[in-house]
Amino acid sequence: MIKYSFVVPAYNEEKNIPMLYQKVLSLMDSLNDQNWELIFVNDGSRDGTWDVLLNHSKLDARVKCINLSRNFGHQAALGAGLSYAGGEAIISMDCDLQDPPEVVAEMIDKWKQGFAIVYARRLNYRKDNFIKRYASKFYYSLLDKFSEVSIPRNVGDFRLVDMKVQRELNKMRGKSPYFRGMVAWTGFKHAYVDYYRPDREEGESGYTLTKLVQLGMSGLMGFSFLPLKIGFVLGIITILMGCGFLTYMIFDALINDVYYHLYKFLVVILFMFMGAFFILLWILGEYVGRIYDEVRNRPLYIVHEKVNIDEYSHIE
Ligand code: UDP
Ligand code: MG
Repeated sequence: MIKYSFVVPAYNEEKNIPMLYQKVLSLMDSLNDQNWELIFVNDGSRDGTWDVLLNHSKLDARVKCINLSRNFGHQAALGAGLSYAGGEAIISMDCDLQDPPEVVAEMIDKWKQGFAIVYARRLNYRKDNFIKRYASKFYYSLLDKFSEVSIPRNVGDFRLVDMKVQRELNKMRGKSPYFRGMVAWTGFKHAYVDYYRPDREEGESGYTLTKLVQLGMSGLMGFSFLPLKIGFVLGIITILMGCGFLTYMIFDALINDVYYHLYKFLVVILFMFMGAFFILLWILGEYVGRIYDEVRNRPLYIVHEKVNIDEYSHIE
């Protein structure tokens, strides 16, 4: 059985692949373990990535390559790679050497100590502009407050997972995966390895703003039902405001003898109806949320350990 699987999505990374391969080679040499595979997923690159990958796989059978038919995005490519990884420990990392293979040695150490999930955690700030940094801060605090599991901060998709975690990940069938959330969701024992994230080695980031927003939405929608509950909050606020106005107008009439035109009453009543619509939208949202929950096919629970229970007594 293979011990270590490296899973690397690659999008326009022809220049980085040879460097990454060399680094993995020397890492595994230093660990004195040749029982590994390096799985590249070519995510519809427009440069020579696939040819470079083919060359490497000809020279070294431990290099395995998957070619996607087009660009499906980082998370999908990662999912493809994970589903083919056969190792006992699976390490997912970027192709651009921003996830330095040197850190992996420490991650493997933690895995050997019994942690099923080892996250690599960035110590330095992202070199993004001011707006992107604050937007990301705001996003993560939102996710932190409203998500059903706590998703670690400053952690990307550079991590090691044990095969038992990977098996659970492969079972999940959602169409917009958010692996950092899914991994945290499994709830297995985890540890962190801190590192300073360098700049990308060659080429440019494949994460356009649209892809980033999509990823963010996958996180929020996959792990919290906040967007669906907005209707509830708006509905309550609107109805309360309507009630407030109406009471004011009635009392004004009764006490101060100020009479309002009928249309003003109508406006206030319409206001309250709008609130009712929001509430109805929220109820629809709750149904949609439940359907979404079913479709994602996350298991109801994950068994961590079993004692005196034989494997075959369980009916799938
Ligand atoms: N990537 C991918 N598909 C894409 C965009 C990126 O497979 O559509 C890969 C890319 O080759 C790299 C990893 O995902 O291995 C991270 O992407 P990138 O470095 O562009 O993101 P950043 O580090 O800027 O967040
Ligand atoms: Mg990068």
